[in-house]
Amino acid sequence: MTITTRAPRRLESYVCGEWTRGAKDGVPLLDAATGDPVALIDATGLDFGAALDWGRDRGGRALRAMTFHERALMLKALGQALMGMKEEFYAESLATGATRADAWIDIEGGIGTLLTFASKARRELPNARVLTDGEVEPLSRDGSFAGQHIYTPLQGIAIHINAYNFPCWGMLEKIGPNLLAGVPCIVKPASQTAYLTELMVRRMIGTGILPEGALQLVSGSAGDMLDHVTGQDAITFTGSAATGRKLKTHPAVIENAARFTMEADSLNASVLGPDAAPGSEEFDLFVKEVAREMTVKAGQKCTAIRRVIAPRAHVDALVAALSERLGNAALGNPADEGVRMGPLASLDQRVEVRDRIAALRADAEIVAGNPDDVRIVSGNAEKGAFLNPVLLYCDTPFAAQAVHDVEAFGPVSTVMPYDTMDEAVELTRRGKGSLVASVFTDDKTVAEEMVIGMAPFHGRVLIGNRRSAKTSTGHGSPLAPLVHGGPGRAGGGEEMGGMRGVKHYMQRSAVQGTPRLLSAVTGRWIDGAEAQQGTHPFRKPLSELQIGDQLVTATRQITQEDVEHFAAFTGDTFYAHMDSDAAAANPFFDDRVAHGYLIASFAAGLFVDPAPGPVLANYGVDNLRFLTPVYFGDTLQVRLTCKEINPRETADHGEVRWDCQVTNQDGAVVAQYDVLTMVAKTWPQA
Ligand code: NDP
Repeated sequence: MTITTRAPRRLESYVCGEWTRGAKDGVPLLDAATGDPVALIDATGLDFGAALDWGRDRGGRALRAMTFHERALMLKALGQALMGMKEEFYAESLATGATRADAWIDIEGGIGTLLTFASKARRELPNARVLTDGEVEPLSRDGSFAGQHIYTPLQGIAIHINAYNFPCWGMLEKIGPNLLAGVPCIVKPASQTAYLTELMVRRMIGTGILPEGALQLVSGSAGDMLDHVTGQDAITFTGSAATGRKLKTHPAVIENAARFTMEADSLNASVLGPDAAPGSEEFDLFVKEVAREMTVKAGQKCTAIRRVIAPRAHVDALVAALSERLGNAALGNPADEGVRMGPLASLDQRVEVRDRIAALRADAEIVAGNPDDVRIVSGNAEKGAFLNPVLLYCDTPFAAQAVHDVEAFGPVSTVMPYDTMDEAVELTRRGKGSLVASVFTDDKTVAEEMVIGMAPFHGRVLIGNRRSAKTSTGHGSPLAPLVHGGPGRAGGGEEMGGMRGVKHYMQRSAVQGTPRLLSAVTGRWIDGAEAQQGTHPFRKPLSELQIGDQLVTATRQITQEDVEHFAAFTGDTFYAHMDSDAAAANPFFDDRVAHGYLIASFAAGLFVDPAPGPVLANYGVDNLRFLTPVYFGDTLQVRLTCKEINPRETADHGEVRWDCQVTNQDGAVVAQYDVLTMVAKTWPQA
C-alpha cells in the first residue's frame, strides 16, 4: 500500500503573467483512495477582469500574428514536451483515483489529442491567418461583384470551465482548437482534481513555447469571472446540468450573446442488436464493452454507458454475463498492483452516486453489486471513496422515468429490455439527447435503422461488431477528428470534430466586393481578380511566385486520331468516345466526344514547362469538372493561374494551388479544376 507522506501543495493560479496564490489559506483536496490531503486550493482575491483583458490583449495579439501552421507547430512542440514529462503527471494522477489505464486516457489521450490537432491543422488548413469557407459566390452577371465567406479569430478569450473527471484531457482537447484558431484561453479546472491540471499548466508555461497571455489558469473558484465576458469571448462548460444552466443564463453571457458551449449530464445508451444472441461474437463484445465502460475511471466518464438496452429474450443471459465480469473488477488503491478499478474522485461524489442509485431504485432493482458494502483489495476503506460496480434492471422502461433521467456518475448502469427495434430506438431517445450511443450488431438492416433512428438524439453513434473488434476505439472514447457533444440534455454543444472545432473560436463573415479586393482580403486568387503574365510561373520558386501569376497557353486541336489513340493506349473504349450512334443517343452528347482525362492530359501538355525547375511534383487535382463536351476538331486552350501559396514552415518547399481553366474555340469552359503542386522555396535549391 502507498502512503502519501508529503505536505499538501499550495496550488497557484497563473494570471497576468504570474503565478499567484489566493488570499486565503485554501481548502484541502484529498487523495481519493487514502483521504490524505494532496493540495490546498484558493483563488480568492484574483482580479478576473484584469486576467481576461491580459489574455485578450497580450495573448490574442501574439496568437493572431501567427499563421495556422505556426500555431500548429507550437502545439506540436508543446505536446512533445508534455509527452516527455508524462511520468510526473501519472504520479500526480494517482491521487485522483485513476489507475494507470484510466490516467492513460487523461494524460496521453489528452496530449495525443493536442498532437492530432497540430498535425491535422498543417494538412487541412492553409499557412495563413484567414480561412475561407466554401467557394466564391458570383453576385453579378459581369463578374465585377462576388461574395466569399471567411473565418477570422475572435478577439476575445476562451474561458474553459472543466469537470473533475479529466483534469488533463478536459483541458487539452479544448485549448488545442482555441490556440489553433488564434484565440487565447483561461482554464478553470474543477477544484477536486485541480492539482493535476495545475501541474500540467505549470509545465506548459515552463517550456516557454506559448506566447505570454495565451494560456492562464484559475486554481479555485471562478469568482466574478463571468461578469467580465464580452461578445468576443467563448465559454465552454463541462459539468452538471444545474451549474451549466446557471452559467449559460449569466446576465453578461446573455447580454453580450457570448458563445457558450455546454456539455452536461448524458444518459448514454448501448443497444444489443436483435441479431446478437448469446453465443454470438457481438454478444460477447457487448458484455465486454458495457463492463469496461462501467469500470474505466470508475464510471466517471461523461460518455460511459448508463443504459443497457437488450432484447427481452437475452436479458437474463446478459445480466448473468455482466454480473460475472463486474465481479472480477478488483477495486482498490490505484497505486497498487493488480487493482483494476480505482475509487471515485471524492467521498462527496460517492454520497452523490449513492443518492442517485437510491433514486434509480424507484424504477429498477439492483441485480449485481451492493452500493453500501464496499469490497476492496487495497486502500483505506474508511477514507477512500470506493464503490463497487452496481448493475440495475428495469423491467418496464417505458413506464419508468428515473432510469432515463438520473445520471449516477460512477460504476452504475441499468439494463432494460425491448421487444422491437422501434422500441430500442425509442428507449435511447428517452435520454432526451446524449453524447453517444452504440449498437452491437452484424446485421445491415439493424445498423441502418438503429443509427438513423438514434442519430438525431446523439452527437456520436458507434456500431460495435466482430469485424472491428480489434480496431474499434470503443463506445466511450471521444476522438480529436470526430465531433464530441450532444443535443438536448447533453448540453447542445459540440467540441473537437477536427478542424470544425477550431472554427468554434472564429467568426464566419460573408464578405462582398469586387474580386480584386476579395482576393486581397483572403490571399487567394479569384476569377476576375488581377493576374500578371510574363515569365512562365513554373520557372518561379516560392520566393518569386505571386498570387495571380498566370499563363495563357497555346492552343491544341483534338482529332479523331487523338481520341482513338488515347482509347487504345489506355483501354478506355467507352462507347461515347468510340461509337457515333450510341453517343448521339446519349442525352448529353451529339456525337463522339473526347475523354475527359484526355482533355486534362492535353491541358498538362499545354501548361507544363518541361525543364527541371522549382516545381517539384504534382500531387493531385481538386474539384475536377468536365463542363462542355469536346468534339473532334475542337480547339483547347488553358489558363493557369497561381491561386494559393502555402509555404511549409519546416521544409524547403510549399504547396501551390493553381486555378486551371480549359476553354474551347468559342470560349466555353470545357474543364475547370485546381492543380496541386509542390514548389521549392528557392531555385536552384540551396
Ligand atoms: P459542477 O457542475 O459542480 O462543476 C463543473 C465545473 O463548474 C467545475 O469546474 C466547477 O468548479 C465549476 N463551477 C461550479 N459552480 C460554478 C460557478 N458558479 N461559476 C463558475 N464555475 C462554477 O460539476 P461537478 O464537477 O461537481 O460534477 C457534478 C456532476 O456533474 C457529476 O456528478 C456528474 O453527474 C456531472 N458531470 C457530468 C459530466 C459530463 O460531461 N456529462 C462531466 C462531469 C460531471 P469547482 O469545482 O471549483 O466548483
